[in-house]
Amino acid sequence: MPNCVRRACAAVLGLLFVNLTVSSWAAEPESLPNIVIIYADDLGYGDLGCYGGQPSVTPHLDQLAKQGARFTDFYAAQPVCSASRAALLTGCYPNRLSIVGALSPRQNYGLSHREMTLAQLLKQQNYATAIYGKWHLGHHVNFLPTTFGFDDYLGLPYSNDMSPAPEDSPGVPPKTQFPPLPLIDGTKVVATTPDQSQLTTQYTERAVKFIAEHRERPFLLYVPHSMPHVPIRVSDKFRNKTGQGLYADVIAEIDWSVGQILAALDQHQLAERTLVIFSSDNGPWKIYGNHGGSAGPLRESKGTVYEGGIRVPCLARWPGRIAAGTVIHEPAIMIDWFPTIAGLTGTKLPEQPIDGHDIWPLLTQPAAKNPHDAFFFYYRDGELQAMRLGSWKLLFPHDVGSVEGAELGRDGAPGKGVRRKIGLELYDLSNDLGEQHNLAESRPEIVATLQSRADQMREDLGDRLQGKTGKGVRTHEEFPAASP
Ligand code: MG
Repeated sequence: MPNCVRRACAAVLGLLFVNLTVSSWAAEPESLPNIVIIYADDLGYGDLGCYGGQPSVTPHLDQLAKQGARFTDFYAAQPVCSASRAALLTGCYPNRLSIVGALSPRQNYGLSHREMTLAQLLKQQNYATAIYGKWHLGHHVNFLPTTFGFDDYLGLPYSNDMSPAPEDSPGVPPKTQFPPLPLIDGTKVVATTPDQSQLTTQYTERAVKFIAEHRERPFLLYVPHSMPHVPIRVSDKFRNKTGQGLYADVIAEIDWSVGQILAALDQHQLAERTLVIFSSDNGPWKIYGNHGGSAGPLRESKGTVYEGGIRVPCLARWPGRIAAGTVIHEPAIMIDWFPTIAGLTGTKLPEQPIDGHDIWPLLTQPAAKNPHDAFFFYYRDGELQAMRLGSWKLLFPHDVGSVEGAELGRDGAPGKGVRRKIGLELYDLSNDLGEQHNLAESRPEIVATLQSRADQMREDLGDRLQGKTGKGVRTHEEFPAASP
């Protein structure tokens, strides 16, 4: 081939490549789905009617499940607040980001700005972005959501119990080490010690307004409710409405919030252009007794890597794209939403490695293979405490704060948990969902297989239980500045 022809061909191919690349990262706005993520705090696996709870309390969520997909085996990335949120918003195991546990108002660090959040991912396609609710990835002004790609923010910077005890909660130990709870709008504190009975309503009203104002362009709406994390509070609209106690009233108000958001999508003819996801950051806080949720048939609760701590409800609806009534039994995990949404929107993943996988095939193809090979790793803080392969779940020896045999709390006061040491425990979740029959001794070959994979992960993400530092761990970001 003559040189001039070769050069011309190369030029044409180059142009084609540029066009394909540009078109894949800058789709027409009308072809881009809106993304709505509603994220409850400490809502349990058994709290929704569609997961065995009281249908009369959650009609909108149960309808959402009927209209789209319901996961039976969906997992938080850690059984506690900050870590779980970091995973949702970055697609990474929280340990990789050095964001574990729950950040307190006294901590001077947050999520590193070297990480890419879901909002920043979607800014590649010029999405409008908003978060109304609990952030919990750094409370100093330089770590607020507006520094991570969110255009608008109203909410609490951390958990609603990180505050001196409210006057209306007799028996609750005062947390005088913390400053009064701030409610933040954008980057400004607009109230201290806000009336928590109004939070669900305030977040919802702002979300509905955001939908109306951005109906003409693609948007990301993230609504991480502060409820039903203790102290649970409900507005007068829902007080005593269910006849099943305050916790059920709070869940009913979250369900109402979901209904309001879905109605706004309908009102603006956006339902068929919107992927709606509902989930919870971790399992219920059972030690609070009647102010904690239900894990249904699952063992233990928040803070543990038994199923009750990490398996959470997860619903996904996109009319016309996800078949109504889909039920997915394949395991999936919170870190999967980030790459899944990247795939749906033609956005470019960050250059740094992430851990999640695109689960769109699981949502849309009945015979789709699990992209994870069904390996999941459950850390609590820096400890690799459990992992799952297919239906096999292996727990490694560690200490656990248990509710089994504990004295549960009542009416907002916590109970007394029991610390216990557990050994190597192997369960077959396909016929032992409650993790009652330890098969570690009778199935050594399964234990060996999982141990081998765990060792690989320890090289990457470390394991404090074994004194190992991971090669793939990145740092959070220090910020010794004053609180906003
Ligand atoms: Mg939580």
